[in-house]
Amino acid sequence: MEIEALLRKSTFDREELVTLLTCKGEDEEKLFAYTKALRNQTISNRVYMRGLIEISNVCIKNCLYCGIRKSNVYAERYTLSDEEIIGAAEFTHRNHYGSIVLQGGERCDPTFIDRIENLLKAVKSLSKGGLGITLSLGEQTEETYRRWFEAGAHRYLLRIETSNEELYRKIHPQDDLHNFHNRLACIRRLQKCGYQTGTGVMIGLPFQTIGDLADDLLFLKELDVDMVGMGPYLEHRETPLWEYRDQLMSQRERLNLGLHMVSCLRLLMPDINIAATTALQAIDPQGREKALEIGANVIMPNITPLTNRANYQLYENKPGMDEGAEESTRRLIESVRKSGCEICGDEWGDSLHFRSRASEVKNEK
Ligand code: SAH
Ligand code: SF4
Repeated sequence: MEIEALLRKSTFDREELVTLLTCKGEDEEKLFAYTKALRNQTISNRVYMRGLIEISNVCIKNCLYCGIRKSNVYAERYTLSDEEIIGAAEFTHRNHYGSIVLQGGERCDPTFIDRIENLLKAVKSLSKGGLGITLSLGEQTEETYRRWFEAGAHRYLLRIETSNEELYRKIHPQDDLHNFHNRLACIRRLQKCGYQTGTGVMIGLPFQTIGDLADDLLFLKELDVDMVGMGPYLEHRETPLWEYRDQLMSQRERLNLGLHMVSCLRLLMPDINIAATTALQAIDPQGREKALEIGANVIMPNITPLTNRANYQLYENKPGMDEGAEESTRRLIESVRKSGCEICGDEWGDSLHFRSRASEVKNEK
């Protein structure tokens, strides 16, 4: 089928998505132009900013791809103090970010759960409720998700990493802490607790096929999530998956495939929030702007205090290690404009998808 005819369709099957994920040249240009226009028509060219605070690299898990996995003895462990986290949140508030993301390694001990609850309340009160808060702290019980929701978090990011259960098993240890079904249950739990729920996948993993990525897109649609963050898989030498580095596609190919994934997802889910992720920037300094040009609408500048930033190395060559929050914010606003988008200040930036769903529920009542 010609690309024009394909783009006019309202539903897509696996084979059609594979065609779109692998299209090149003029077809690729047409796809990207189409999804840029679709984003602008559906949700406008306004981009939401989230200040990303990497609160700690202490993690109880051992994902085979991740540089801060528990067994990496070379990772120097840190945990930001309450003052550092609150200071970073104040920075975002002063600089009109509208919301923050608290991300970190997974922990589920009571001290940690209580601490997050208290921090959420503190951030809410410093901004008088003005700052939106997204959490990305892994798998938790329903009670924990509820407590954190009630304390002020309203969005949560938990990537499924891959929707292919067999592939999931290959990139994780085989135990209860790393179980595909548990992770999926957590995503559903978050939806049930009322969070705007985000998930996503890694692109270009060892053993992953283009068909898997097409399935990932269909899976995201089926889950009906409000937001998605996905980016290229990047190798890290102190992880078990390093062994398979020779089997990977080149980083440039992973970047290109990442952009195709963003574009195709916009086609499938026109009104959700899609992040232009840091992993894209790790391959190409302009990677995030390229994603904004073709359909993404969220950007998450890293505002972790510089002293600790180098230790949050999920993958090698993570960008922005030496750039302070002020400088990275200024540069980012400039480059977002160049990609044809406008930064939205002081807004939580909920996805239109979520807002439409919320008003449907209200109307039914
Ligand atoms: N511990 C939490 C949040 C921090 S990790 C969790 O795992 O959900 C956030 C994301 O970083 C993960 O979901 C994974 O998709 C991504 N990540 C980890 N290692 C990576 C790597 N080597 N390359 C690219 N992304 C990676
Ligand atoms: Fe921990 Fe998240 Fe890394 Fe897995 S991906 S090891 S849960 S920080």
